[in-house]
Amino acid sequence: MFNKIKEECGVFAISEAEDDLDIVNTSYLALYALQHRGQEGCGICVNNKNSLALYKDIGLVSEVFTKRNLDKLPKTSIAIAHVRYGTTGDNNRANVQPLVVNHKEGKMALAHNGNLVNDHTLRDKLESKGLIFQTTSDSEVIAYLITKNRLKSSSIEEAIEKTMYEIKGAYSLVIMTPYKLIVARDPRGFRPLVMGKLKDRYVFASETCAFDAINASYIRSVAPGEIISINKGQLKSIKTHCNKYKRSLCVFELLYFSRPDSKIDDIDVLDARLKAGEFLYTENKIEADVVIGVPDSGILSAIGYSRASGINYGVGLIKNKYIGRTFIQPKQAQRDSSVQIKLNVVKSVIEGKRVVLIDDSIVRGTTSIRIVKLLRDAGAKEVHFRSSAPMFLNPCYFGTDIDSKENLFACKHTKEEMKDILNVDSLEFLSVENVVKLSKENIGYCTACFSGNYPIKPKTERSKSHLEQ
Ligand code: SF4
Repeated sequence: MFNKIKEECGVFAISEAEDDLDIVNTSYLALYALQHRGQEGCGICVNNKNSLALYKDIGLVSEVFTKRNLDKLPKTSIAIAHVRYGTTGDNNRANVQPLVVNHKEGKMALAHNGNLVNDHTLRDKLESKGLIFQTTSDSEVIAYLITKNRLKSSSIEEAIEKTMYEIKGAYSLVIMTPYKLIVARDPRGFRPLVMGKLKDRYVFASETCAFDAINASYIRSVAPGEIISINKGQLKSIKTHCNKYKRSLCVFELLYFSRPDSKIDDIDVLDARLKAGEFLYTENKIEADVVIGVPDSGILSAIGYSRASGINYGVGLIKNKYIGRTFIQPKQAQRDSSVQIKLNVVKSVIEGKRVVLIDDSIVRGTTSIRIVKLLRDAGAKEVHFRSSAPMFLNPCYFGTDIDSKENLFACKHTKEEMKDILNVDSLEFLSVENVVKLSKENIGYCTACFSGNYPIKPKTERSKSHLEQ
């Protein structure tokens, strides 16, 4: 899928231990594995002898962390790291994370994946009391509230606990003080956060693919609402905010955001994508000669479709790996022209065939139109489009860039109109009923962009900042 939905952010953290591990290089490798979650900027903050050293900038991990820049950071003892795609705030260096703040009790660094839905209300309240923000990111609001609550708390953990009563929305947080590493996940668990072990150190990341990159072993997911604090190797779990709400893991993590080699909330993403393909066939059986997937995130569902249907899987589209993700480019004109550069059709797989084309979703429709045209030009006899996500009918308020209703293809057109505009012989989307069955058991998902059932209800569609519990 190209130029449709931007990713959200990725976090990583590593606790201290008495060893000679180079935690800067370890964080760098983990960020590399999480690069798909954000390409705008990245940073690593290291706690060295109780002083916090930070390096961050706009750009990809490989661009920001040259050897020279990595060498600027001390190699011990605790670190937190972040890759950013900004769903709130401008793309400038100040908004790149981790954020480091000074407060009465010392320093604190924080990195955040997700999006607060009451960010503006909180910001307005704080600004009316004279507070000046350095960034436009909601993460700074969280950092400020924690430091404010720290003044009336006996520990940083208690301050975070208090802050979690004030902030609403999606957040997976990694926080570092001069002595502790603390992570927290919002009570509904919108965004993933997993825990692992690397020798004597605890590691945390948005996805387990970061653990594979550093040879860490996976332990479990951080529970929705859980706060975990690590101090001198000792782990403390605080569950005051757990089990308050139904879990609302973003179901689109399974279909698109997360890497297929990752495990989130104990679900193998790869299995979920294969399952989506199976459902696409069983929901609407057709006859065809070949099933192909749009690289990369449509491939596994195409394989699942092929297994369920017995229709041959073919490599019908080849992706040029040596080009940046088109959705990094801000202008629509640039995005459109780059589709052809990014994808090429394997004519021998397509020509004269009835083709089932599987993509992970259709958001604005522009890319899908171009891909179908590529197949038609290559001589496809029939094109049957299948989307492994249901129709996008609603915006997302929880840390992704799913568009406003006026830009969503499925909001502007009926299914029949979409079929005509795409120039396909048939068009089907995975049903909302089955999207929650992609894992063995329905653990509780957010499906709001498809179903309109918001775990935190918007008061109005237009105002992203006015949502109610
Ligand atoms: S609205 Fe959609 S993209 Fe946003 S969290 Fe819910 S399922 Fe995920």
